[in-house]
Amino acid sequence: MALKFKRVLLKISGEALKGSGDIYDKDKLDEVAKQVIELTKQGLQIGIVIGGGNIWRGKLADTLELFRIEADYMGMLATIMNALAFEATLRKLGFDKVKVYSSLEIKTVTSSYNYRNAREKLDEGYVTIFAGGTGYSYFTTDTGASIRAIEIEADALLMAKNGTKGVYDSDPNTNPEAKFLENLTHNDLVKKNLQVMDSTAAALSRDGKLEIVVFDMNGKDNIIKIANGDLECTVIK
Ligand code: UDP
Repeated sequence: MALKFKRVLLKISGEALKGSGDIYDKDKLDEVAKQVIELTKQGLQIGIVIGGGNIWRGKLADTLELFRIEADYMGMLATIMNALAFEATLRKLGFDKVKVYSSLEIKTVTSSYNYRNAREKLDEGYVTIFAGGTGYSYFTTDTGASIRAIEIEADALLMAKNGTKGVYDSDPNTNPEAKFLENLTHNDLVKKNLQVMDSTAAALSRDGKLEIVVFDMNGKDNIIKIANGDLECTVIK
């Protein structure tokens, strides 16, 4: 296998770390971390954004009769918790070249985000984890991932899905006739409202000419496979 990219931004949803656990599943964390370590050994430079949906989402504000803005900051904090969980898993597995940046100031356990510093660390072989999303309410970690991918000059944003191999023209879970789409343009993504990422993230990716690869992370070594161009997926460029 040969790497298809030199530098990527891997976006994982928080739910992906949950597995059958309440918040985390040890096997899921280990499985993703081991693949990331293996890819760094192959020479891939990896930035990671992890969502927070396994812990909290801003949209749940109404369930507690909270204001959306506080609820969104709670969601951003959830992404920081996930980043620390993933960092700790990498370290547990003996991999220490990892740096967590946060868009929110949490100086004890994260570094302030700085794109130049992040690029340097990636060049040095560090896995860089970008926590805290954009740092602003009313955004998502998809948008955070698009921005970080553009800023670190990633060759691609690898959008990991749970159990869907890429993009379809309709929901394959409800429509057995749904057609799989292998290649798309950014305009398709923005105009057709495809279930890849939210519209802000889609528009940003288009403006930043960011290649997006949508793939199913559930499958043995699927992250390694996708980075080596060895897995069915949808490519958007
Ligand atoms: N969030 C936010 N701004 C950001 C990123 C995230 O306000 O830039 C909040 C938002 O409330 C969101 C939550 O953090 O619901 C968790 O992020 P997301 O839903 O993107 O996580 P995922 O669904 O990918 O696990």
